[in-house]
Amino acid sequence: MYLHFPWCRKLCPYCDFAVMVARAAPPHEAYRDAILAELAARAPAWNGRELTTIYLGGGTPSLWRPDCIAEVIAAVRATLGAPGAAPREITLEANPTDCTPANLAAWRAAGIDRVSIGVQSLDGAELAALGRDHAHGDGEAAIGAALAAGLASVSADLILGAPRADDAAAPGAPPSVHALARSGAPHLSVYELTIEPRTQFGKRARRGALPVLPDERLAALYEATHAALTAAGYEHYEISSYARPGHRAIHNGLYWQGVEYLGLGAGAASFRRVGDGGRRETNLRHARRYLAAAAGERVAEVIDQDAADVAIDRVWLAMRTIDGAGVADLDALGAAARDRLVARLGDEGLATLVDGRLRPTPRGFLFNDRIARHVLDASAAKDR
Ligand code: SF4
Repeated sequence: MYLHFPWCRKLCPYCDFAVMVARAAPPHEAYRDAILAELAARAPAWNGRELTTIYLGGGTPSLWRPDCIAEVIAAVRATLGAPGAAPREITLEANPTDCTPANLAAWRAAGIDRVSIGVQSLDGAELAALGRDHAHGDGEAAIGAALAAGLASVSADLILGAPRADDAAAPGAPPSVHALARSGAPHLSVYELTIEPRTQFGKRARRGALPVLPDERLAALYEATHAALTAAGYEHYEISSYARPGHRAIHNGLYWQGVEYLGLGAGAASFRRVGDGGRRETNLRHARRYLAAAAGERVAEVIDQDAADVAIDRVWLAMRTIDGAGVADLDALGAAARDRLVARLGDEGLATLVDGRLRPTPRGFLFNDRIARHVLDASAAKDR
């Protein structure tokens, strides 16, 4: 289950997500009621599924009043969960300044056992360059408070490649990486800054007014970060994800296995199997339109997939992780496409076939978009 909360305090200049700025308070109760109504409308199609994880993402769901969060989680569990069985993981994405002891206690009481904190950097100059609304010191304080609150796991997000005119191509991982490794957070998500055309950064880059790092510098940062974090005891288990033992993200792990998920809220996406194919549904992206629509009419886009489409998705998603794709998923591509894919990825040093699993190499992590393209190309060439 994915629940999307679309409001943020301010719009970060690099953000291309389905978000809105909450100039005053977000509509806490109205959005709660809309989610509860959407849950009631869509639940019948999802009966019989196992509710494994709940993930509240955004936007900034830590802006949502904790009593509304608690009501929504309780309703999801009562509607789709097995009686008496708790989900394996309930995650909330949180802004560092929202991670107060009072909020953390309320989130825990609501059932949340994992927070994913949008730290992004521990360097004040980088935070300013990224236009974040938190400052130097807030990230460490939030991680410390979350650890002290006794949650089952804590994750911190980090952005590599914040634009800065003084980047002197210093070797090694950025100081924030080493500091996060020392912070006690057992899970880290590390993203390279991408400049999306529709964002403020996109406009500034087109004017030549943004000191964007060249690709080779970003690649060097990625590799240095991998070296620093694996040396510090983290497993690099997915392109962007590092975990200490026992702290892999369960919810995201299910996405990469290609399982079904129901997404509620503005802009949320869902995937469910239909026969041997699947159906992808995406909700109205704009929060006001989402709120104004009837509960059963919030899906804005439906894409039906055949068995071959589903097989392709399963392989490229699996190839984001160190576990790679297994025999059944590879065979579902068809023998010719499977063999073509294994040969191409091997030739380019992007993946290796070991004990029946096709696993990405470190180079395959760095150039994962090439793997995705090869999966598509190999499959397009097969008889369908
Ligand atoms: S807090 Fe996150 S979701 Fe909100 S604008 Fe910034 S990057 Fe986007």
